[in-house]
Amino acid sequence: MSLSEIKQRIEKAEAAAGRAPGSVQLVAVSKVQPDARVRDVLTQGHRLFGENRVQEAAGKWPEFRADFDGVSVHLLGPLQSNKARQAMELFDAIHSVDRPKLARAIARLAQELGQCPDLFLQVNTGEEPQKAGVLPADADDFVAEARALDLPVKGLMCIPPVDEEPSLHFALLRKIAERNGLDGLSMGMSGDFETAIGQGATHVRVGSAIFGARDTAG
Ligand SMILES: *Cc1c(COP(=O)(O)O)cnc(C)c1O
Repeated sequence: MSLSEIKQRIEKAEAAAGRAPGSVQLVAVSKVQPDARVRDVLTQGHRLFGENRVQEAAGKWPEFRADFDGVSVHLLGPLQSNKARQAMELFDAIHSVDRPKLARAIARLAQELGQCPDLFLQVNTGEEPQKAGVLPADADDFVAEARALDLPVKGLMCIPPVDEEPSLHFALLRKIAERNGLDGLSMGMSGDFETAIGQGATHVRVGSAIFGARDTAG
């Protein structure tokens, strides 16, 4: 599917949900994609991208940034505390702040660097043992702690279980965001971004639907 088709589907979903045109940002997930495909999407004018790994992003985005103005890259995947500094220097936003320890490490570095990317706190809405994020029951405390650390918390992020109806998870994330006064909702991927927009997503993370299937799991 082409970039313009995805954008049209986003516009339609915005309209169907009674939301303002342009209220949803498309994060084009370029992890593991060949550089030529990413460059093609950049050439079409798209500027917002998502990556899963610090190392991979560090290897390709400095060059793309040198070639294209106004590029924004968001980290979507798990972040080890010892890579937080590099991530904060590389990314414009981090969607995967998934535990208090990481929030505290980011806060210390923000003091030192005098800057901090926009942050989304990840909630494990499906309470899956293998998945990152705080449990829904701990989300309010996590938001409060991140705010007490003076972090720029823009919203929440979730990745629903693969075998469950995603809309229930999107609705839960939205409810947690609303009661905490957060506007940002990073939710929805290739298979369910329209559903997520219906539930209030502000950032949809779409990879394979734009770039084609990934050769390796990311
Ligand atoms: C890979 C990935 C995506 C994109 O997945 P697609 O199904 O290819 O759209 C979105 N969010 C996260 C966190 C990812 O790791």
